[in-house]
Amino acid sequence: MEFLHDYSLAELKEKFSASGLPAFRAKQTYEWLTRYADFDEMSNLPAALRETLKNSFCARPLEIIKTLISRDGTRKYLYELADGNVIEGALMKQEYGNTVCVSTQVGCRMGCGFCASGIGGLVRNLTAGEILAQVLAVNKDLGGGADRKITNIVLMGSGEPLDNYDEVTKFLRLVSSPDGINISERNISLSTCGLVDKIYKFADEGFKANLSVSLHATTDEYRRTVMPIARKYSIAEIVKAVKYYFNKSGRRIIFEYTMLKDVNMSDDDCKRLRKLTAGYPSHVNLIMLNYVKEKDVKGCTVEEGEAFCKKLNEAGVSATIRKSKGADVGGACGQLRRKYAEGEL
Ligand code: SAH
Repeated sequence: MEFLHDYSLAELKEKFSASGLPAFRAKQTYEWLTRYADFDEMSNLPAALRETLKNSFCARPLEIIKTLISRDGTRKYLYELADGNVIEGALMKQEYGNTVCVSTQVGCRMGCGFCASGIGGLVRNLTAGEILAQVLAVNKDLGGGADRKITNIVLMGSGEPLDNYDEVTKFLRLVSSPDGINISERNISLSTCGLVDKIYKFADEGFKANLSVSLHATTDEYRRTVMPIARKYSIAEIVKAVKYYFNKSGRRIIFEYTMLKDVNMSDDDCKRLRKLTAGYPSHVNLIMLNYVKEKDVKGCTVEEGEAFCKKLNEAGVSATIRKSKGADVGGACGQLRRKYAEGEL
């Protein structure tokens, strides 16, 4: 069954007019979809129209089946998709607003060393409407109806966004449209393991979202041991691509760097980070490893992390430690879905 959330308002109007329905009905329906209402709630639509729609379309591509609330206020969500697959997401409350973290794929095929999302491989891509539905369902969960409770979005849940390029970019268009929830691209961050060809495409197509690149290493040799994608693209190629993205979009580049003791926190790493972030606006988000039981990887202590951050700052690198949120409720990508699959939730 088709998801109405996969359509823009213009596309919905076309669909409606092809069935002889007036454009204003499409607009009314679209407003309800943005509120994440089901057909039965669409009170200003004639009952007959609601029935017709119900027979051919799905108005809610996913349902929240579990909500875990962390001590720090972070909410982790499990969603069930219409085909029975389960994905996860999070809501982080910040001083400046509410950030929702969305998944872009069921599973992931990138296979990064410490990430739980890739353990079972890729199941399938999400559609644009399924990604949008995560934002709208959380907005509704926070009490947002016509008004908007979500201020920021990060594409940092399960999946590699640029490996699902067409649906993810369609999602960006839908979510930033004034016809819908209207969250501007400048308040959206897309995180990638570094699919260089897609970074160029993203730049050339005029997108202006914040780009985060999961670097985690300063040498190709080490990066290849934790991130299989590093066999395809070198760090130098990534740096060239993100500079291109900066030049096209004007957006500062963010690097994500998970700190692993005795592995990627040496003085040489510091020097190399300095070199590869120099000459263009960039920032390093240092991440404390979230422990994943299936993976034999050790992070570092808070003190060691702070010392590394200080060293970077002294060397002239803009870097901060990303506050870990929701660790007590399985904050790291893919952890919740795995627990659920194993019957632990
Ligand atoms: N596929 C995208 C989106 C995932 S974003 C990407 O690779 O960027 C999530 C970020 O959290 C990535 O930087 C990822 O490498 C990191 N991450 C994954 N598992 C983690 C863990 N157990 N602890 C800390 N960071 C982790």
